[in-house]
Parts: sequence; structure tokens; C-alpha cells
Amino acid sequence: MRAVQVVGYHDKLQLNEVPDPQITGPFDVIVRIGGAGVCRTDLHILEGQWEAKSGVALPYTIGHENAGRVEAIGDEVTNVAVGDKVILHPLITCGLCRACRAGDDVHCENSKFPGIDTDGGYAEFLKTSARSVVRIDDSLEPADVAALADAGLTAYHAAAKVARMTRPGDTCVVIGAGGLGHIGIQVLAAISGVRIVVVDRNPDAVALAVEVGAHVGITAPAGESEANGPVEQVLELTGGHGAEAVLDFVGEGGATAEGVAMLRRAGNYFVVGYGENIDVPTIDIISTEINFIGNLVGSYNDLNELMILAAQGKVKLHTVTYRLDDFQQALDDLDAGRVRGRAILIP
Ligand SMILES: [Zn+2]
Ligand SMILES: [Zn+2]
Repeated sequence: MRAVQVVGYHDKLQLNEVPDPQITGPFDVIVRIGGAGVCRTDLHILEGQWEAKSGVALPYTIGHENAGRVEAIGDEVTNVAVGDKVILHPLITCGLCRACRAGDDVHCENSKFPGIDTDGGYAEFLKTSARSVVRIDDSLEPADVAALADAGLTAYHAAAKVARMTRPGDTCVVIGAGGLGHIGIQVLAAISGVRIVVVDRNPDAVALAVEVGAHVGITAPAGESEANGPVEQVLELTGGHGAEAVLDFVGEGGATAEGVAMLRRAGNYFVVGYGENIDVPTIDIISTEINFIGNLVGSYNDLNELMILAAQGKVKLHTVTYRLDDFQQALDDLDAGRVRGRAILIP
């Protein structure tokens, strides 16, 4: 089969002819890729940022946001059949460790990560396990949902936590209305009762956020005076108390200082975007009982729930498709900021 491979760091990807994956274990599932999301992480892999962390032997096939149709299954696979449309949880998990038994797939102690530390989905076929395949509704196409396997799943995981930890009428400030933010807003609108206040520096992103479900949009141009800045506006909206939840998809450039200042006493701060340190005096944390909550991708059940919202038409993702052969164009477009929504390779 044809597969796009990492052959060296700081080198371009190569389209190579490689052997088709084979069923070797009873729970193996081979998927014919219908769509593979092109992600900023792929650019970071080529820059060598994951070299030490993944320890993967080169060459290997890249691509960690995958969906398609089941091509072949091992003897013991009962949850999917050949021909089923599926999206792949990004990890192949063991099912036996403590984290797996708690349904916390992301913290599996024996996981593999196709596209990062083993062969991924920029290819005609990918081998995963029965534990990682989520069947999707007939109305959905693999290429339309592939990017929800990673970016969308991360946004869902955090937004679903907000939904569980808030009450109808509470306020949730969403910082950052980019790719993840606009999925998070759709999820909050679908499954929580919060008033959604979105803050972003880009007026177009704020307008799109309001279109997909945010109740209040705040455009925060750099250099805005303190008196009318986003913190003041959130305090004004909440009777001076602040928001019960802040969902931060930015995590750099001063976002966390502003976000913490928007938080109500006993409020929860959900960190998704990252880059800077959170600088909060410990006395403020104990005296106001605010909490900081990290978020890493999402579980199999999270992905299943996200696919239900997608089938209900409540979460939509804008995509631009490329043929597998045009992988370099897709990466170049992503790198240059020319992709609106998510770029998807179709083998
Ligand atoms: Zn990704
Ligand atoms: Zn495990």
C-alpha cells in the first residue's frame, strides 16, 4: 500500500510503497482510511519535537486523526464488522491496567499511539485494536469526522467536564475561539445549561463562535484599556462576581492572568491550551477555593459521545480535503495558515 512516512527529522515526508498491515492478534482491526486529519502536531513531529519522547524508529507512517471503514478483523472481534464506518480513538490501549479499567484510556500504562510512536493513518490502511474503534452513524462520513479524533475529542473532554461541574444559569468563559474553541462551544451549547461567553482577539472568530452557540462575544484587541477589557466585561456580566468556569484554549500570551481574574470564588479553571506558567499566589487559591483542572485528549467514551452529537448535527467541523498524494500541499497550507477549519487527507 501507499503510505506517507517520516524518513528523517527536519526532512520532508515521503510517499512510500510499504507492506499492507496484517491481522496477527485476535483483537486486531485493520481500517481502510477514509480520512486522516492533518494536525499541527504533524509539523512539530517533523521539527523533531517528538523525537526523544516517542522514540519511534524511522521510517514510520505519520497521521493520528483517523477514520474509515473496517477492512479486516481478528477472530475475537465482536464490536465491529467488516464494512462498518469507524473513527479511531487516538490510542491503542491495553484494557488491563488500572487506568483502562477505570475507563481512563488516555492514561493507559501500556498504550501505543499510531502516527506518533507507531504507524499512523496517512496511508491506505491502518492497524489498530477492537478497543479503539468507535462505530459512527450511517449519516456521517469518515472524512468529515476524522479530525474530531484528536482536536475535537480534546475539546469535548474539557467541555463535558464543564457541563458536569456547572448548573444551568452558570457562566462559562471560553478563551480562544479557534479550531478547538469552536468545537468546545458547540459541545457546551448542546449538553450544558451555562451561559457561554467567548473571548478572542479575532473578530471573525468571535462572530463564528456566536453563530455556533456562544451567547456573548467579547472581542479583545491587544492594548485595550483595562477599564473596558475582557475582565471588566465579564465581571459586569456576572454582577461583579465572575464566572463559575473558565475554559482556556489559549494558555499563553497573558491568557491565564486574565482568565483567573474572570473567575468567581470557588470557580474552576480548565486548562487546555498551554505555553505559559500560571502565576497565582497560593493565598488566593486557598482563600477563594479556586481549582485548576488539566485536560489531556479524551477517553473512548468521550469519543463515542462526541460522535453522537455529530450524528445529531450538534457538532460540525469545517474541513478542506486533499488527495493523499497532495500531502505536502496540505502541510504547507497548514503551516502558512491557509486552511480554514481542518485539512483532511483522503487516500
Ligand atoms: Zn492532532
Ligand atoms: Zn491500559
